[in-house]
Amino acid sequence: MTATSTSPEITIEFHESPVSDADRIKALETPGFGKIFTDHMVLARWTADKGWHDAKVTPRRPLELDPASAVLHYAQEIFEGMKAYKADDGRILLFRPEENARRFAQSAARMAMPAVPEELFLKAVEELVRVDKNWIPSGDASLYLRPFMFANEAFLGVRPAQEYIFCIIASPVGAYFKGGAKAVSLWVETTYTRAAAGGTGAAKCGGNYAASLVAQAEAAKKDCDQVVFLDAAEHRWVEELGGMNVFFVMNDGSVVTPPLGGTILPGITRASVIVLAKEKGLRVDERPYSFEEWQADAASGKLVEAFACGTAAVLAGIGLVRHAAGEFKVGDGQTGKLTTELRQQLVSLQKGVTNDERGWTR
Ligand code: PMP
Repeated sequence: MTATSTSPEITIEFHESPVSDADRIKALETPGFGKIFTDHMVLARWTADKGWHDAKVTPRRPLELDPASAVLHYAQEIFEGMKAYKADDGRILLFRPEENARRFAQSAARMAMPAVPEELFLKAVEELVRVDKNWIPSGDASLYLRPFMFANEAFLGVRPAQEYIFCIIASPVGAYFKGGAKAVSLWVETTYTRAAAGGTGAAKCGGNYAASLVAQAEAAKKDCDQVVFLDAAEHRWVEELGGMNVFFVMNDGSVVTPPLGGTILPGITRASVIVLAKEKGLRVDERPYSFEEWQADAASGKLVEAFACGTAAVLAGIGLVRHAAGEFKVGDGQTGKLTTELRQQLVSLQKGVTNDERGWTR
């Protein structure tokens, strides 16, 4: 390992035996999702006495943890998900990365963890992307980035840890859903809930996903792509999917999406879709929407499209909805017109095809 260059706070240690060009190019042909990883990662440490220190881009390797590391017992862990895209003109683009940095800091606050300063977060992401730029696929694929932080102080006892590791790994990815642009099917979960008021629903912490797995497994058993959660208090209001926010498109030109009330994740794709929809002259209602209303609107034809959105899949049309008492289609069961338009608009911005008037790419 040779430390050949440094930037103000981040040392760069290049891998001495990275994956060969031939193997990397072959791996990039069919990346799948989250299965292959780049040569490097970011590591930084936080201790109560020193704060953040030792930030570096370093060869990717297994981490050694004390078996008493707090994260293994009390799940003090948060993460982010974002993508780097290769534009046709060769530029490498990140989409609204400062929003990921901010959400990461908010998640940290909720989990009693130290914030990673926005500047360090952004610089670490950029340095890793720069070092592993040969791993960014072209075309529809992209480089998924996974910043995360966990408590690694070795102790048993329930209190915030005094030591943390911030890490970023990167994975070239293709389509999130195997069916490509085909509309997805959802299972409406009425037994298990994801988050209650006052809980951790708005934080991107690993525990939320651990708690969602049994419902996601239930969805798979019902032959559905994803689970949709209802609120914890009444099991009545639509919240979000296991890993995506949800939108409903009405025949009167309005769009409905559940409000951010602390129980759902404030998606960056969600926020971007709201801006784009408003720019198209659509009314966007961030309001509670019940499963009852969803069924009635699908049956009456008032609901013409529904879609899920998030970094991984961008926008995915919702075609079929299964629940304990039956199932129904949304619209004609295919990905709708507005969904396709908004998806195209977002992807074009992310890939630098259209002019970025809003300053969303970096
Ligand atoms: N909800 C949940 C539970 C998620 O995991 C994600 C993915 N981060 C989203 C919504 C969408 O967020 P974003 O658009 O920022 O990816």
